[in-house]
Amino acid sequence: MRLEGLHHITMITGDAQSNVAFYADVLGLRLVKKTVNFDQPSAYHLYFGDETGAPGSILTWFEFAGAQRGRAGLGMIHTLQLGVPSAAALDFWESRLKAKGANPRRGETSLHVDDPDGLALELVVADGGNPPLRAEHPDVPAEHAVTGLEGARAYAAYASVTEGVLTEVLGFTHLGEGEYRLDGEQRHFHWAYDQAPDVNPAPGSGTVHHIAWASRDEDHLVWQSRIAEAGGYVTDVKDRDYFHAIYFREPRGVLFEIATLSPGFAVDEAPEHLGEALRLPPQHEHLRAELEQSLIPVVNPRAARRQEQSA
Ligand code: ZN
Repeated sequence: MRLEGLHHITMITGDAQSNVAFYADVLGLRLVKKTVNFDQPSAYHLYFGDETGAPGSILTWFEFAGAQRGRAGLGMIHTLQLGVPSAAALDFWESRLKAKGANPRRGETSLHVDDPDGLALELVVADGGNPPLRAEHPDVPAEHAVTGLEGARAYAAYASVTEGVLTEVLGFTHLGEGEYRLDGEQRHFHWAYDQAPDVNPAPGSGTVHHIAWASRDEDHLVWQSRIAEAGGYVTDVKDRDYFHAIYFREPRGVLFEIATLSPGFAVDEAPEHLGEALRLPPQHEHLRAELEQSLIPVVNPRAARRQEQSA
């Protein structure tokens, strides 16, 4: 039994529409689901990914409108690494991001940019082995498109000390100096700890809420008992409509989730219209009229382009 690499990473934004403009238009991902935080339905939950929202490609945000900017510190993820196919793609993204008013900084084999909430992103040349998970965007040639998530980095107090829960319970490989790799059947993911800065962590917009690893459906309950047997507190199984989820905190303080590979995002809307209508889980459907009033409407760039073409 092994985890199938990354499922998704979830962040906080203070402004859903500028979040959508950046990820689904500038970066060319697809907004694949527009729903609410199931535990706090007054807030949006937006999912972005490749054409289908395949696990490994998914970034999600809770919107807390007008939320203060947070700051990553001890026990928090501070950087997300998005794969691109080549160094030429880094050149493409450097000029596209500049043209869109972002402030990319070129590293030797990467391109750093902060999103509109201040979250640190690093575009990296994918090291091979992860089947590309691309979305289609008219201004982003397929040979330059983002190919999915390659890695993430978190802050810890003793970054270079081996974390046994990762290696013994969850099946990560320790590569040394706080660097780990999670290998699934199809995909792998780079996970790393850096020495935490001497500042108080502050949740808020631009910070990461949790990271979710992918599990085969039939393994999900086994993962839950394995974590409990190792002495960790783990939640009950939550039905998130698009997957089932359990949550627990790893010893360095980062909130981990394990999410099932199915059923996926086409369970409640047609694949060609993913992320266009506000979808609510059955338990919150009675709030629809209220939420359609209170949530600031968010336009999916793909639906907007289709409307322009047919006008
Ligand atoms: Zn999640």
